[in-house]
Amino acid sequence: GAQSVDRAVDSVCPFCGVGCQITYKVKDERIVSVSGRGGPANEGRLCVKGRFGFDYVASPDRVTRPLIRRADAPKDVAHCEAAPDWREVFREATWEEALDLAAGGLRDLKTSHGPKSLAGFGSAKGSNEEAYLFQKLVRTGFGSNNVDHCTRLCHASSVAALLEGVGSGAVSNPVRDVAEAELIFIIGSNPTANHPVAATWMKNAAQRGAKIVLADPRVTDIARHAWRVLPFKPSADVAMLNALLHVIVEEGLVDEAFIRERADNYAALVANVQGYSPEAMAPICGIPAATLREVARAYATAKSSIILWGMGVSQHVHGTDNVRCLIALATCTGQIGRPGTGLHPLRGQNNVQGASDAGLIPMMFPNYQRVDNGAAHAWFEDFWDTKLDETPGYTVVEIMHKALADDSDPHKVRGMYIMGENPAMSDPDLNHARHALASLQHLVVQDIFLTETAWLADVILPASAWPEKTGTVSNTDRMVQLGLQALQPPGEARADLWIIQQLATRLGLPWDYENSSWLRNLGEGQKPISLETTSPTYHGVAAVYDEMRRAMHGAIAGITWDRLTRESSVTYPCLDEADPGQPIVFTDGVPTANGRVQLVPADIIPAAERPDADYPMVLITGRQLEHWHTGAMTRRASVLDALEPSPTVSMHGDDLARLGLTAGGQARVQSRRGEVTLTVRRDDGTPVGSVFIPFAYREAAANLLTNAALDPFGKIPEFKYCAVRVLPA
Ligand code: SF4
Repeated sequence: GAQSVDRAVDSVCPFCGVGCQITYKVKDERIVSVSGRGGPANEGRLCVKGRFGFDYVASPDRVTRPLIRRADAPKDVAHCEAAPDWREVFREATWEEALDLAAGGLRDLKTSHGPKSLAGFGSAKGSNEEAYLFQKLVRTGFGSNNVDHCTRLCHASSVAALLEGVGSGAVSNPVRDVAEAELIFIIGSNPTANHPVAATWMKNAAQRGAKIVLADPRVTDIARHAWRVLPFKPSADVAMLNALLHVIVEEGLVDEAFIRERADNYAALVANVQGYSPEAMAPICGIPAATLREVARAYATAKSSIILWGMGVSQHVHGTDNVRCLIALATCTGQIGRPGTGLHPLRGQNNVQGASDAGLIPMMFPNYQRVDNGAAHAWFEDFWDTKLDETPGYTVVEIMHKALADDSDPHKVRGMYIMGENPAMSDPDLNHARHALASLQHLVVQDIFLTETAWLADVILPASAWPEKTGTVSNTDRMVQLGLQALQPPGEARADLWIIQQLATRLGLPWDYENSSWLRNLGEGQKPISLETTSPTYHGVAAVYDEMRRAMHGAIAGITWDRLTRESSVTYPCLDEADPGQPIVFTDGVPTANGRVQLVPADIIPAAERPDADYPMVLITGRQLEHWHTGAMTRRASVLDALEPSPTVSMHGDDLARLGLTAGGQARVQSRRGEVTLTVRRDDGTPVGSVFIPFAYREAAANLLTNAALDPFGKIPEFKYCAVRVLPA
């Protein structure tokens, strides 16, 4: 029968970037169920994570008091894999003691070694307000731009190519626009597992006649709904995409008027793709020339074609080049700026779009204002009323290198503040990353669990889970959505915004919202109407949102806090309160300097580490439906844990036979950097010669194996390709 509940609270799913709206049902101060709401991204639909992935909040593993490392407990990277009783390593402390120690350690390093000796990792799992305040703390308190988050591991290359090509890193059209598409080109993405509700919109589109093309080395579930499947060889993206461009140019399928009016550098692109005929590329990418020609014609001639992509495109040393090719495909055929067309990099984390927008990246202030742009720099110095560094900071993987830099390096990173990120699981080449974290003189970790990263901390600050706070998040479709607090944090755990402000105060920052210079300078009638909704602390969530909205240079100008509390989801760009929001952009030009698409030719760059006699197979890492990223939340959600309890390596049946392995048995997978042991799973969708391992399992961490080689533009590591060997365990 119907369960009686104490209250129902509206929020947004905390897992993937689809941004499904949910309602928590709370009874006796516990979430007892979650249902889908009629939000614009999901219309009531939810996947298994959104519906069942919530009891992590009530896990007995929650950190409920501040913890301080015992003086006699060394930082031991072995704790990341096999943790002892936490009391052997940490002791409980008061907030006062923990905050003083956390801030004092950072302040001392800044004094003795300068601003560049500190770095901060914020979180795409936190709210926009938390991301904004965190980057403000690093920029104004640490005094450098060494601030980044997991976007670096996700779509950094996509954003680099999109900013260069079309002047904006966000999607051009929302996922649900697939309903208007005649052809849906999905590349490097497994949407059924990673964007499940988005996948349902794609499948619905196929049902009513849209042609799905799946281009992916792995043949995944969505292939069952596809018109054509292109299982190209791992890392052969540019070869295949340039072959499609070659056909489009050679067969006159280009939209000449569109190119003339909207694009620069077309001649260079044409010259470059001459050498990439489908016939020449077929042996390189593994797709027959006739299929490449057929798909190129279908994409170009459809009334509307949309491209959606995931980490399979971005996580390569040539990730930026891959996306340059996708931009060229859409531009040369005029498949952009209309319903059912465009470019959609499917965002992974629930708030990776928003955290990036809010400035949680080392080269940009909020709203992608470059820190080394004189005008932007001056604007933020005025807005924040302080001197700011004008050199871009280091990125996630670079910061790990800088932590292990020689003592004489003036930019050696010695202290870090990490909020809600788990680089000891998510970074490439974990042995290196864990040693880097362990080598820090001072590491402050703010999280809800003793994550692998927290085991290497000096101070652990117990934070709040998403259902325990109010805030906004921005989904893959550029929808800013409001989540409301349903529960109190357990024990002495506190809201992340409160913790950031406590550290700011101790770093001597004069954060005083009511007296901030920009607020003082507003006329009487212009005072933000949200002010009365701020909490008694000087930075209530609505006040932080309001300051961020002004820092965003108009992008979300029309999305006031009060409007969000009424509408719960508004899409940006949204220029004023009368603007309903703009789901489809680039309708009459793009926001580059001259308003035209900048086409950039790309050539084949090989993967950084190719298979050889010692390590003859290719490792592809990724996610699976039931588990989220490093598993900290979903492996503590009982239903999800029951569905996928242990680490697996997926391989093609031919490889199992060749290597003498059996499904259900154990295998060891080794790279030059590490080794893991996992259960063998047969999956004939995995290409012969490759293995697929999800990265959620601490007991067999896939990233012990991965290669830290970076894309030179986006600085994203090559998670989708490195050399391994597989042995029976
Ligand atoms: Fe949550 Fe994504 Fe699933 Fe929606 S599709 S319920 S946002 S994990």
